[in-house]
Amino acid sequence: MKVGVLALQGGVREHVQALMDCGAETVMVKGRQDLAGLDGLVIPGGESTTVGKLLVRFGLWEPIRQRAAAGMGIFGTCTGMILLAGALPGDHGPRLGLIECEVVRNAFGRQIDSFETELAIPVLGERPFPAVFIRAPYLVNPGRKVEVLATIDEKIVLARQGKFLACAFHPELTADLRLHRYFLDLLRLC
Ligand code: GLN
Repeated sequence: MKVGVLALQGGVREHVQALMDCGAETVMVKGRQDLAGLDGLVIPGGESTTVGKLLVRFGLWEPIRQRAAAGMGIFGTCTGMILLAGALPGDHGPRLGLIECEVVRNAFGRQIDSFETELAIPVLGERPFPAVFIRAPYLVNPGRKVEVLATIDEKIVLARQGKFLACAFHPELTADLRLHRYFLDLLRLC
């Protein structure tokens, strides 16, 4: 299993470490050549407008779209969730639109409103997941193909569509590897 971590901005090293701890071969993705042969790609948290611009500058939008259409899975955390979703009307940010839903940015408030919570994620088992939210988004208007995996007050904070997994929080900032393992299982099974 070979998984890339988009290494333009944000929590790159922590994702690389988590994937290696799960036993996956891991590469940092800085250019289109790094996408070759990947089963999956992690898009870490950061700032979605900046990451969107860097994706343009490094010529990565189309290659990522093409690899995703050819079967590469994507795990987007926070900014990654934003990029995986579709844009709300009036929101002109760049989006991959690979998960049929829309995204509300900074939806839980400002940096100071960041929080950590024990989140129920039934697909990961009974033990709640330590979820760190930093200026997090959430998803709205999920389409029929979207499987909602966790919510807070009916706000969608974890969802998947096929091999695309979108997460509003930062699993790479805790020692709990279950979500990274879940993504690797999706790559194997879907
Ligand atoms: N608020 C950021 C954005 O709009 C996301 C924050 C994060 O990735 N932790 O991209």
